[in-house]
Amino acid sequence: MFRLETILFEHSKSSLVKYVLTRYYCGMNDELFNLIERLANLLRQETRLEGQSLGLQPVQQEALYYLSTCNRYSDTMLAVTEFLGLTKGTVSQSLKILESNALIIKVKDKKDKRITHLKVTKAGREFLMKTCPPQKFTDAITSLSVDEEFETKTLLKKVLNNYQQATGRTAFGVCQHCKFNQQTSDGIVCGLTKEALSNDDIMLICKEYAV
Ligand code: SF4
Repeated sequence: MFRLETILFEHSKSSLVKYVLTRYYCGMNDELFNLIERLANLLRQETRLEGQSLGLQPVQQEALYYLSTCNRYSDTMLAVTEFLGLTKGTVSQSLKILESNALIIKVKDKKDKRITHLKVTKAGREFLMKTCPPQKFTDAITSLSVDEEFETKTLLKKVLNNYQQATGRTAFGVCQHCKFNQQTSDGIVCGLTKEALSNDDIMLICKEYAV
């Protein structure tokens, strides 16, 4: 039979363990959050500085960068709006500024004239090559060993994947990892659109991406 003091002692011991573990994991989460947040903040500041040469705001640079990394199913105004999580008005204004700076052009879809694609121009790509990622970020990464860089990528991918699953925001993944990406005897095909995909296509992000 347990005595009352034993029960109380055991209870307080498990509560203490729970308390310490909760504090430990919360502390770890806070530290990770602070690190990622600080990194994101620094990147935003540096990118803003780089964008000043053309008078671009961060949101305009983000839209331009997104358009340089997405595939042909995802280069519309609606997809940019969805990706950035901003209002249509803000995105529309940003795209107008990119267009007036000749960094993007509008191209009508060959099959469906209701769809307008937003393509990054040569000037847009040159601007991104000089500014994204910022040179100082590249310098910082260069100081990592090959193993450290690989481990960092692997861990960050895992954190991103877990976070996407938790938030239900799983779109905009890289095509090669999508469940619709199929290797056939004729090459790589998108199981959703039934269209052929090139080796370059599968490295791009897609709004229809699914796991
Ligand atoms: S395979 Fe998936 S990610 Fe690739 S184009 Fe098709 S839907 Fe998009």
